[in-house]
Amino acid sequence: MAPESRNDLPLTIDLQFLDQPGVVAAFLLRAPGDTALIEVGPASTLNTLLKAIADAGVELDEIRHLLVTHVHLDHAGAAGALLQLMPNAKLYVHELGAPHLIDPSKLIASATRIYGGLMKRLWGEIVPVPEDRVVVLHDDELLEVAGRRLHVLYTPGHANHHVAFHDLDEGAVYVGDVAGVRMQDCGYVRPPTPPPDLDLEAWEASLDRLAALNPTAFYVTHFGRATGTLDHLQQLRVRLRAWERLVLEGMRAGQDRAAIALTMQRSGDEELALLVSPEVIRRYEAASGYTMNVSGYERYLRKRHPELALPASSL
Ligand SMILES: [Zn+2]
Repeated sequence: MAPESRNDLPLTIDLQFLDQPGVVAAFLLRAPGDTALIEVGPASTLNTLLKAIADAGVELDEIRHLLVTHVHLDHAGAAGALLQLMPNAKLYVHELGAPHLIDPSKLIASATRIYGGLMKRLWGEIVPVPEDRVVVLHDDELLEVAGRRLHVLYTPGHANHHVAFHDLDEGAVYVGDVAGVRMQDCGYVRPPTPPPDLDLEAWEASLDRLAALNPTAFYVTHFGRATGTLDHLQQLRVRLRAWERLVLEGMRAGQDRAAIALTMQRSGDEELALLVSPEVIRRYEAASGYTMNVSGYERYLRKRHPELALPASSL
């Protein structure tokens, strides 16, 4: 397809997660008769997404590709419901993520353990994805969607089944959560480190892989287009290890999760307060909460430091 026959930049859709602007994004890539979405958001923001698609003048049967960076509910929760409404669409997902969208029972059970009665309000109704509408993504493969060439990069660290999409025409990368959380018009990059997959070594290898591309921009799910990609990655790399030290210190001192999260919040919010308003600090928290981040580190660190696996009272 000739480049002039499509819109070059994707449309960033603000899903207004929990009625907050600028927290969760989806990206609409348009070409005549061949439109794609990268990230679909949670099922709770389905109506916002559908309205934005209609406002963009796109019919639901024109959407052929739904690509998700990983299966966490804020990125892929709406996939099953959307496929019911988009007769020509396929869902593209990492091979390790696909089973959890086809049968979301484990995803729902683990989220319910964390969110309990808030499940419905946060994530909406999670609908299974029919197996025959799934396209399993392989590392290093080349997709042609919406008049673009997208190079698939396995990028574990935040999740073991995370992929990024390198748009070879724009030189930008759709990074999901592997490049962290960076709110609009703000340079600060926060690591999102939830359980159960956090793996710092794998994550650093993924950051190396992204840096080697020298991307022109990132499309960050939380939130939007960001430039200065190498500084961005470096900031994330430093903060991932700084938080590891902070959590390890707290665990060695026998602190519980809430106490460690408070320490992390004090240091993180102090850095943020120099840069942004309290409203933007709340957006960071909505996308990547400190308590959740500490619990991801606790699990990661217990695997690497066997002595920490013991309850504090028996040390
Ligand atoms: Zn996320």
